[in-house]
Amino acid sequence: MPELPEVEVLRRSLEPRLTGARIARVEVRSPALREPLDRRALRRLEGCAVTRLRRRAKYLLVDVEGDRTLVIHLGMSGRFTLTPAAAPAALHEHLAFHLDRGERLRLVDPRRFGVAFVRPTARLPDDPHFVHLGVEPLGEELTADFLAGEARGRRTPVKSFLMDARIVVGVGNIYACEALWLSGVHPRRAAGRIGARRWAELTEAVRTVLGRAIEEGGTTLNDFTDGEGNAGYFQVSLSAYGREGVPCRRCRRPIRRIVQAGRSTFYCPGCQR
Ligand code: ZN
Repeated sequence: MPELPEVEVLRRSLEPRLTGARIARVEVRSPALREPLDRRALRRLEGCAVTRLRRRAKYLLVDVEGDRTLVIHLGMSGRFTLTPAAAPAALHEHLAFHLDRGERLRLVDPRRFGVAFVRPTARLPDDPHFVHLGVEPLGEELTADFLAGEARGRRTPVKSFLMDARIVVGVGNIYACEALWLSGVHPRRAAGRIGARRWAELTEAVRTVLGRAIEEGGTTLNDFTDGEGNAGYFQVSLSAYGREGVPCRRCRRPIRRIVQAGRSTFYCPGCQR
């Protein structure tokens, strides 16, 4: 499943190639993904140029002329890629935007957990898909003070707290484990019992871990024009996650695995307190 860094890498790679491109024709090839595809709303994008590419949580936001936004979520298996206009339709190609530049932007999604819809740009924050989302992990809103404030009085384990998308979006299981390892915080520690200094370290660690994943993803990406869109399913170098029994890179104690809220947590019993 694509995580926030993968979506951000996709955004960065598509941005220069989509900005200014005009959508000549929209092909809606399936009635629904996870939600019905609104054929009329999608086809009203015909004739409009793309003005900007943004991201909110794991949603890719394609702003077009007329203050509308095409919202794409890749679900479990979606790929959103540019391909030459003449390339034959892929299996599971549910949606295609033919661009005036002789390319086709297509959404291929075998498992159909993806989402695609159009909204007036100004109304996006109030849309049910967005209204409950917490702050962006790489934006200015994520600060140690903010997290400390949200955590006040909470007994939730800090790992579950970090993964709560109503507080901060995009900190998936792997990134939560890695950020806790990096900042030396025990995953079971109650969120409300973490001091200001640890919050500062943890906040920095969240940014570092996600930023590194974006950088590493950016260097391992294939060319988006190949239409295969291996785009963005990349491996990051990990220090805790998936390393049960392997000596910790910092203190050499073996990494331990526990289960929290049904998910595996990997941590170092030596240097995470
Ligand atoms: Zn250690």
